[in-house]
Amino acid sequence: DLRVRFCPSPTGTPHVGLIRTALFNWAYARHNGGKLIFRIEDTDAARDSQESLDQIVDGLTWLGVNWDEGYGVGGPYEPYRQSLRYDLYRDVVARLIESGHAYESFSNNDEIDARNVANGRPKEQGYDNYDRNLTDEQKAVFRAEGREPAIRLRVPDEDISFDDLIRGEINFPAGSFGDFVIVRPNGHPLYTLVNPVDDATMQITHVLRGEDLLPSTGRQIVLYRALIDLGLTTFVPRFGHMPSVLGNGNKKLSKRDPESNLFLHRERGFIPEGLDNYLALLGWGYSADRDVFSLDELVEKFDIVDVNPNPARFDQKKAESINGDHIRLLDVEDFAERTIPYLQAAGVVTDPITVGEHQTLLTAAPLVQERVQLLGETPGMLGFLFTTAESLAYDDDALGTLTDASGDVLKAAIAALEPLDDWSAAAIQAALAGALVEGLGLKPRIAYGPLRVAASGRRVSPPLFESFEILGKDESLTRLRNLDE
Ligand code: GLU
Repeated sequence: DLRVRFCPSPTGTPHVGLIRTALFNWAYARHNGGKLIFRIEDTDAARDSQESLDQIVDGLTWLGVNWDEGYGVGGPYEPYRQSLRYDLYRDVVARLIESGHAYESFSNNDEIDARNVANGRPKEQGYDNYDRNLTDEQKAVFRAEGREPAIRLRVPDEDISFDDLIRGEINFPAGSFGDFVIVRPNGHPLYTLVNPVDDATMQITHVLRGEDLLPSTGRQIVLYRALIDLGLTTFVPRFGHMPSVLGNGNKKLSKRDPESNLFLHRERGFIPEGLDNYLALLGWGYSADRDVFSLDELVEKFDIVDVNPNPARFDQKKAESINGDHIRLLDVEDFAERTIPYLQAAGVVTDPITVGEHQTLLTAAPLVQERVQLLGETPGMLGFLFTTAESLAYDDDALGTLTDASGDVLKAAIAALEPLDDWSAAAIQAALAGALVEGLGLKPRIAYGPLRVAASGRRVSPPLFESFEILGKDESLTRLRNLDE
């Protein structure tokens, strides 16, 4: 049975690269009817936080990425937090030492460098496997000096290769790395130990993670073989290393780049459908002629071997355009509901929203659903419908579009609309077109610009005639007169 895992270290706010990795693991598990295990790699007490963990859970839940085992859910391999698994690691290390796969190493960095220089090797070459054969007497001397050993894994002198699901054959030639530390002298187990031990004991079949971890895979395979020898597992998992996500200037997206922050996208008004879709495009594609798809369609088609090994660039514009496409796919009532928190945050409607505001929102929603890419654009677009002529604010750039001729346009519009009995968008349009375009001979853009400013205070608004209809006749005429003065 296929078992994949998502195992973040809970430091900082969730990053889009991390979430993309979770999404691909999830899609792979769902596509294959396998299980996704959510494990917390919280072995860095100084940097890990519950707040960060809560944010990761919040982000995954928001995006519809659920898991079958692990944190908050439980399962047969509890606990799923590394900070609660130290007894297991201690036990495994004891068995690795006992079986000769690992050993106590007392060399410190200065001694290693000095030996490299003395033996004509580059100083930076690193550990030289010197402590492999320390005698009990030598160890006792070090201990008597108050020194504590690190634990190193014995690396066989042979090539290590594996077939990466995304990158193909990867080879670490013999000698690429020496016996490496799995437990620090202070007793703290390292990532190179605990991550494969957990993957092995949790029977993970496919390790799908970022390409930044590729350099550690050779070491992990060595450890895996030792764990098989100990009978802790029976197989080495398949590995697939996903492409990095690049930001501006084609540099790796770092935590400091604003677009790396998952919650910033949510605050700006990405909907989960849109962000899921865009995140999936960071390394994967649905088909040559289609880049808008649902989560169900992702699951139906996703295969890890189709992921592109080349770095993926986070393109904010493209992300927003995909989000706009998903906004247009929503039922209008659903769209309206989703705008409410944004309208409330901007103070456009009250919290809780009133019945009257809700009514106006439902009437106006179809007009803006066609025009926004982000829910965060809706307060600016809709605000004028929830205010009165007296408190309408005019944007400077909207006022800047007015000319000497605008007064005549406004007067002609007022004259054309005053006698109107049928206050429908179609009737309003007919009256205004007759008076301004035919009557005054103006181009529509020139004719309607001042009217849009009068109605909304903005240069860009939902369609004008519909806006007048929603505002009602009295309110519309008051706004036209207010701007004319
Ligand atoms: N805790 C590691 C990280 O967040 C996960 C490494 C892995 O997927 O193997 O980078």
